[in-house]
Amino acid sequence: MHQHSLSLFDTDVPNDPPEAKALEVHRRLCKEYDCPIRYFHVLDPLAELVSALLSHRTRNRDSGLAFRTLRERFPEWGQVRDAPVGEVEEAISACTWPEQKAPRIQAVLREVGERNNGTLSLEFLRDWPVVEARAWLESLPGVGPKTSAAVISFSNLRGRALPVDSHHHRVAARLGLIPDSLPVGPSHRVLESQLPGEWDAQMVYDNHQIIMRHGKDVCTWRDPKCRQCVLLDICPHGQERLAGKRSAKHEGEQPAR
Ligand code: SF4
Repeated sequence: MHQHSLSLFDTDVPNDPPEAKALEVHRRLCKEYDCPIRYFHVLDPLAELVSALLSHRTRNRDSGLAFRTLRERFPEWGQVRDAPVGEVEEAISACTWPEQKAPRIQAVLREVGERNNGTLSLEFLRDWPVVEARAWLESLPGVGPKTSAAVISFSNLRGRALPVDSHHHRVAARLGLIPDSLPVGPSHRVLESQLPGEWDAQMVYDNHQIIMRHGKDVCTWRDPKCRQCVLLDICPHGQERLAGKRSAKHEGEQPAR
């Protein structure tokens, strides 16, 4: 990362349309984090759905352990669905709120089976348009835009969808890509609409990964490293912050995944 001088603040980029800024952010962060980014695992879509439900407000390490333990204890999804809820809760105890997530996962598995002639699989989504697949997923209990996007993008469906986690959301708000007041859920549609329609799944995946990584490493919840940030000259929040005009906006909220 490079140190930026205050002279870089003399730019009109912050007034550009959000689509232009989104592209510039992508271009710079791709260079910084070396796109294309490798997909971090290969799971079928139902496994990805369960993994995403476990990951809510949980560190990756802990949700990964919960997922592996669940799979070891119950190799078939039907076993997870039909087990006493306490046994599922015990298997996923490494993640947060296992007492809520265990019944939720069982309810989702029951619903998937009932809608799919008893088959516990989401392979049929592979042939569906992404918009319809996401709507179907979001009609399941406890599944919102972030989870549906994760299933489409991170699973071996490898579809075109933009998940927005708390890091991504915070960076986007500070950059002015979304209004401060826009919650994570509705921000999915706004941020994805700023990306070129011709981008493929890998590029949309890259966009999420690099902005999330930037949020974890540089644009942190507390004390973002604005002076080392390659986006400073196009970031109103960083500029105002360094100029002392703004205190810690988005730095007093609880981080959420
Ligand atoms: S300049 Fe500061 S607030 Fe803006 S994106 Fe970079 S680290 Fe975040």
